[in-house]
Amino acid sequence: MQKGLLIVISGASGTGKGTVCKKLLADLPEVAYSISATTRNPRSGEVDGREYYFLNVSEFKTWISEGKFLEYAEVYGNFYGTPLNKIEERLNRGEDILLEIDVQGALNVKRKCPEGVYIFLLPPSLEELKSRIEGRGTENPESLSRRLKNAVAEIKIGLQYDYVVVNDTIDNAVAQIKAILTAERCKVARNADKFEFEGGF
Ligand code: ADP
Ligand code: 5GP
Repeated sequence: MQKGLLIVISGASGTGKGTVCKKLLADLPEVAYSISATTRNPRSGEVDGREYYFLNVSEFKTWISEGKFLEYAEVYGNFYGTPLNKIEERLNRGEDILLEIDVQGALNVKRKCPEGVYIFLLPPSLEELKSRIEGRGTENPESLSRRLKNAVAEIKIGLQYDYVVVNDTIDNAVAQIKAILTAERCKVARNADKFEFEGGF
């Protein structure tokens, strides 16, 4: 059986990662979303245990000391982390797992799991990025300016990923990510067992 894909998607805040991942997950029921833990406050409509596990700083530190994270990072003044949650066992069972995490976390995971699929999502332009974060209406002016200031540096780190997808329209971005996953599943390195034919002519 083929091992599942560890799919890691990053991109500057407001690029559309959440929106694109939601559509991708709706279209691909075989892909499981890794729910992160965070110390940031829930946005309106966000549910504990669905978008994130919302923890306070002391709970987050306890999870760190108990070795519960594959990776964690401080992003915009809050902690975010990927729970280990038997990821390796699930991949070995053939489950695909999607992580939507920041660039620091993604590079840490890449060092541990180089066979993962690292996809960087870009906005069509910085103007469009700004208008998407503003349009989402979730950030106060301070948080908005912090996210925008960080965006250019974050985008440069995207050069270290395997794939880049421009989120011009959601449908295009989702179609490109599906194509990447199809190609990844066809890699010889992931299909060595298919070459083992019994017998001969
Ligand atoms: P991120 O998770 O990267 O911070 P979101 O998914 O929250 O970004 O998207 C930010 C805003 O941009 C949301 O209001 C969302 O509806 C909008 N958005 C996402 N993708 C697109 C797109 N392709 N075209 C136009 N608006 C988009
Ligand atoms: P937001 O607050 O907009 O939901 O997310 C802010 C940033 O934190 C985004 O770049 C998002 O990808 C990142 N993030 C979400 N979960 C994790 C995680 O588990 N680990 C890391 N390192 N970053 C995360």
